[in-house]
Amino acid sequence: MNKIRVRFAPSPTGGLHLGGVRTVLFNYLFAKKHGGDFILRIEDTDQSRFVPGAEQYIFDCLAWCGLVPDESPVHGGPYGPYRQSERKEIYRTYAEQLVSEGHAYYAFDTTEELDAMRERLKEAGSQSLQYDHHIRMRMNNSLRLHPEETKALLDAGTPYVIRIKVDANETISFRDMIRGELEFDSSRVDDKVLLKADGMPTYHLAVVVDDHLMKISHAFRGEEWLPSAPVHILLWKYLFGLDAMPQWAHFPLILKPDGNGKLSKRDGDRLGFPVFALDWKDPVSGDITRGFKEIGFLCEAFVNLLAVLGWNNGTEQEVFTVEELINQFSIERVHKGGAKFDYEKAKWFNHQWIQKLPVSAYTSQVLEILKDKNVSVSGSYLQQVLDLIKDRCTLLSDFWDQGFFFFESPIAYDEASVKPKWDTGKNNYFDTLMNRYATTALWYQDEIEKVFKELAMEQQIKVGELQMIFRVMLVGSKTGPGVFAIANTIGQEETIKRIQNALLVFG
Ligand code: GLU
Repeated sequence: MNKIRVRFAPSPTGGLHLGGVRTVLFNYLFAKKHGGDFILRIEDTDQSRFVPGAEQYIFDCLAWCGLVPDESPVHGGPYGPYRQSERKEIYRTYAEQLVSEGHAYYAFDTTEELDAMRERLKEAGSQSLQYDHHIRMRMNNSLRLHPEETKALLDAGTPYVIRIKVDANETISFRDMIRGELEFDSSRVDDKVLLKADGMPTYHLAVVVDDHLMKISHAFRGEEWLPSAPVHILLWKYLFGLDAMPQWAHFPLILKPDGNGKLSKRDGDRLGFPVFALDWKDPVSGDITRGFKEIGFLCEAFVNLLAVLGWNNGTEQEVFTVEELINQFSIERVHKGGAKFDYEKAKWFNHQWIQKLPVSAYTSQVLEILKDKNVSVSGSYLQQVLDLIKDRCTLLSDFWDQGFFFFESPIAYDEASVKPKWDTGKNNYFDTLMNRYATTALWYQDEIEKVFKELAMEQQIKVGELQMIFRVMLVGSKTGPGVFAIANTIGQEETIKRIQNALLVFG
C-alpha cells in the first residue's frame, strides 16, 4: 500500500476558525496513526483575497496546537513548493491538456457579457444563473466560435479564462469515508473557471493537480467543500484517472450553540466566546478578535475539545491526550451530522486539563499574565500558589482573580462581614496573635494553625469566627483556599503585616 499522505490546504484569508483547526487535527491524527505524512499546503491563488499576516497566523496556530506538519512552506519537503502562488506555471499545462482533450475550453466573455447573460436568464425566469451546458453555446467561447476565430483571438492576446466543460445528464459519484456513496447530477454543475485571466489557477484546478503531484492518499476537508466535489471528481477523471484519486472524507460542520447553522466568527462576537485559535488582528481595521489561547485556554484542552466535536471513541470518555487520540482515532467514527459548539463545555475541558497537567506545564503562561499586572514573582513561588488554587480555575486568566492576594496585600476589606463580629475580644486576640506569630520559630501550615487555635482556646473565642476574620485580613474577602495555607505561602512577615494593616481598619 502507498504511504498515507494527507493535507490541510487553507486559503490564508484571515483568522483560523476552530473548524479549520479541527480539520487540521483530524488530518494529523489520521496521518500519525498510520505512520503517514501530514502536509500543509497554502492555497493562495486568489490574489484578490490576499490578507497580510494570514499565512504566518496559520503557522502560529498549528505550532500552538502542537500539530506540526511534516511538509510545508516552512518545513520544506520533497514535493514543494507548498505555496500554490509559487507553482503557477505547473497548472497551465494541465488546463491546456484539458482543452486539447475536449474537457475544457477558452472563454473570452467580458464582465459586461457575463452580466448581460445573467440578466437574460433572470428575465427568462431561469432558476439558475450559471454558466453551464444550457447557455455555453450562446457565449463567446472556443466551443461556439470557429477554430480560426479562437486562434485569432488568442493570437491577438484577448484575455480569456479556461472553463471545464461539464456534460449534462451524467451521474458523478464517489465514496466518502464518512458519508458513503454520494451521487451528483452533472446537469446541475456549472462550467467552473479553472484558469483565470491572470494565468492563476482557481482553487478547483490547483487542488486536484496538487493532490496528485503531492501524492495525497486521503483528501479530508470540511463539509462546506462538498458542493465542489463533483468538479474535483471530473478533473480527477479527465486528468489522472479515478483509480489514482485519493479517498475522500468531508467532516461535519461545527454548528452554532443552538444548532441553527454553521458557527461563524460573528456568533462568537455576539455570544461572547472565541472562535479563532489565536488572537487575530485585522490588518485593515486593526480590530482584534480574541483567540482561545489569549482568553486562557491550554493547547491540550483546545485540541481535546476539538477532537470530540464530531468524533468519539465509542465510550463515555471525553478527556484525551494527543497520544490517546492518535491511537484511537478513526475516520469511520467521525459523525455525519454537525456538532453543536458549547462554550461551557469547552471551558469544562480547560478546567479538566488545568487539574490534569502538572502546574509546571503552564507556569510560564501564568507568569505572562502576572507580568501584565506588573507583578513579578519567582517560578517556584508561583508553582506553590498554582497548586493551591488550580481547582478553582477554569481559564488561565482566572489565576489572577483567584490568587491576586498571594502577590499583593488587600486594598479593601469585606467590612460588612467582619464589623458585626468585631469586638474588643477579637481585637485583643489578633493583637496577641501578631506577637505569637512573630515568635513562631518554624513557619509551616500545621504550626500556624496550632498557634491560632491554641490562642483561641486560651481566650475562649469561637475558632470559626476568628478564621473568617483572619481570612478577610489576608485576602480582603471570604474567598480563597485554606487560610493557613495562605498564611504559610505568603510567609511570616507578610502575614503579620496584613494582620497589622487590617487592625488599623477594624480596630
Ligand atoms: N483551499 C480550501 C480551503 O480554503 C481547501 C479545501 C480542500 O481541502 O480541498 O479550505
